[in-house]
Amino acid sequence: MSETNQMLDVLAVFSHPDDAELSVAGTLLKLKSLGHTTGVLDLTRGEMGTRGTPEIRAREAEDAARLLKLDLRINLDQPDGHVWPTEEARQALVRILRAHKPRVLLTSHWDDPHPDHTNTCRIVREAARLASMRRYDEEAGQGAIPVPAIAHSVFSRLVAPSFVVDVSEFLDEKMRAIRAHASQFYKANSDEAETRISDQGFLQQIEWRMRYYGSLIGSTAGEAFYVREALNVNDPVELLTRPMNIYS
Ligand SMILES: [Zn+2]
Repeated sequence: MSETNQMLDVLAVFSHPDDAELSVAGTLLKLKSLGHTTGVLDLTRGEMGTRGTPEIRAREAEDAARLLKLDLRINLDQPDGHVWPTEEARQALVRILRAHKPRVLLTSHWDDPHPDHTNTCRIVREAARLASMRRYDEEAGQGAIPVPAIAHSVFSRLVAPSFVVDVSEFLDEKMRAIRAHASQFYKANSDEAETRISDQGFLQQIEWRMRYYGSLIGSTAGEAFYVREALNVNDPVELLTRPMNIYS
């Protein structure tokens, strides 16, 4: 899955090979069902992970990509645990954005306890802007693109979502895509070291959180996003008369 000229409507950019699944898999599945082309860019191969190996994780990421029906899944080969907004990282991402021309990027929120996630967010915001500057990395000969819109995946109670996507229909498919990363999650009688996410309760918490965000819009499951920019609404009546939960 590395077709160099695959145009994308939506590209999810996250740090580690299971982050996109945990954060936005429901939204990617829903967007695909609506006819959009979708891709995932993993910044690292997850080689710092307590469990699994880069080879196992690459196979798992491919399996998950099939379950998510992605048009493209690629890797930026940044060092796991040391993701940093270097010029090399920014330029590499600008080249990806100019090659695939996504109109919307999904990524982490900057208020995140994992430094790789915080820095991924920063690289994404900077590269999105730089990709629109004609003179930036001109020697690559790709040409500038319009700045893609950026929606940040929300998990923190301190961040009020700008919108919640109803992913009720895709809850089971999302959990299957997450479980494709089998080396990372709970396995009975595993002799590998325990981690936060390999705990038996972790995937249950992911599901409960989706159900909580769903409850905010009166649906079974949701994924929440924060957009830094003001949303340009064409028809407020259409928007505001969709089902919502006045107790949110
Ligand atoms: Zn991560």
